[in-house]
Amino acid sequence: MELTSEQRDMIGLVRKFVDAEVAPQASELDHRDQFPTEMVEQLKQMGLFGLVIPEEYGGLGQDLVTYALVIKELSRGWISLSGVVNTHFMAAWMIQQYGTEEQRRRLLPRMATGELRAAYSMTEPHAGSDVQAITTRARRDGAEYVIDGRKMWATNGLRADLVMLLAVTDPNARPRHRGMTAFVVEKRAGAHEQPGLLVPPQLKKLGYKGVESTELVFDGFRTPASSVLGGETGLGQGFAYFMSAVELGRVNVAARAVGLATAAFEAGVKYAQQREAFGRPISNHQLIQQKIAQMGTKIRAAELLLEDAARKKASGGRADLEAGMAKYFATETAHWCTVESMRIHGGYGYSQEFVIERLYRDAPLLILGEGTNEIQQLLIARRLLERDAI
Ligand SMILES: Cc1cc2nc3c(=O)[nH]c(=O)nc-3n(C[C@H](O)[C@H](O)[C@H](O)COP(=O)(O)OP(=O)(O)OC[C@H]3O[C@@H](n4cnc5c(N)ncnc54)[C@H](O)[C@@H]3O)c2cc1C
Repeated sequence: MELTSEQRDMIGLVRKFVDAEVAPQASELDHRDQFPTEMVEQLKQMGLFGLVIPEEYGGLGQDLVTYALVIKELSRGWISLSGVVNTHFMAAWMIQQYGTEEQRRRLLPRMATGELRAAYSMTEPHAGSDVQAITTRARRDGAEYVIDGRKMWATNGLRADLVMLLAVTDPNARPRHRGMTAFVVEKRAGAHEQPGLLVPPQLKKLGYKGVESTELVFDGFRTPASSVLGGETGLGQGFAYFMSAVELGRVNVAARAVGLATAAFEAGVKYAQQREAFGRPISNHQLIQQKIAQMGTKIRAAELLLEDAARKKASGGRADLEAGMAKYFATETAHWCTVESMRIHGGYGYSQEFVIERLYRDAPLLILGEGTNEIQQLLIARRLLERDAI
């Protein structure tokens, strides 16, 4: 990729941090399912919570290509660390794009420093892919809205101070998505209970450990009317706002996938040169070389799709095709690379002694999150058929 010296400096700084501080500790924290408090403090010090927040609101004002490459580097160390910042980036991006000036001035400077951290909550227990089926309700009551409903799989749901929440404000609207509104809900970070909101203990997961995923149970939760994203003009726009942010999320997941695949590749290449079988390093055996060639080629292709999607999204145009392709290909590549790298490791790949077992457990999330890869393929096909309609 052609990068400016500023972009190279930023990515180099993150890579150094990942190699020195993240990679050596990630598996241990993963095995203990422990939140990476110190790493998160270091991310704050590097200004990474404000990476894409404009300078006028206290952020670093970096573009989406830099964002994607920073996420790739963090994920090469540990995708859970990129998970800590991902929902935050998406919420900040939505406030910047669609918020009122008052919301931007009030929230973005404190989000840029990491003083306020954000979650992003759309999914419900009965509705993931089918977002229009959500039922969480926000009813106007004087100067407030009252929220009732149950959200599922909110990453950073406990520790976040803000939740970017999608709720139904007009259940009679048809199509249903026109009756949905985005709210920037302020809550008490770290509190399992507060008036009208319960955050149950974190969900137990296969991988993606360390960062919490929680339910959010709203029962008469009151939020000021000023928390409607975009104010009056935001009413009924929530679905469109969230879908646009999901494109950014897909660029993010593609970047995570390239990072994770790179870590699996690097582990496999290193091991192949250390391990001997039949009197020579296994890297001299042609079937191992085939795996290295295939992994390297697919990762490079995934990187190029990622760059294409990041540039398209940064240009401000519709990027669902590019983001969908990048997300689909990069995440399937990451999942496939973890299995191939595990094969290179032989029996040791199955042991917690080597990083590959963690990468292998982390990879499937990328296939499922931000829209499953089945849904990506539907979107890609729909757009290609539209484009080449006869
Ligand atoms: C660890 C983790 C963290 C997450 N973090 C967040 C978060 O921070 N915020 C948030 O809002 N959500 C989050 N999610 C939710 C995630 O985005 C959803 O799980 C995902 O969108 C899939 O929804 P679902 O689980 O309800 O599956 P379903 O929608 O029930 O899908 C089940 C299966 O049916 C398939 N399917 C569904 N519809 C179709 C169709 N039309 N055609 C073909 N196949 C179809 C799917 O591809 C899948 O294979 C997270 C999930 C996980 C696991």
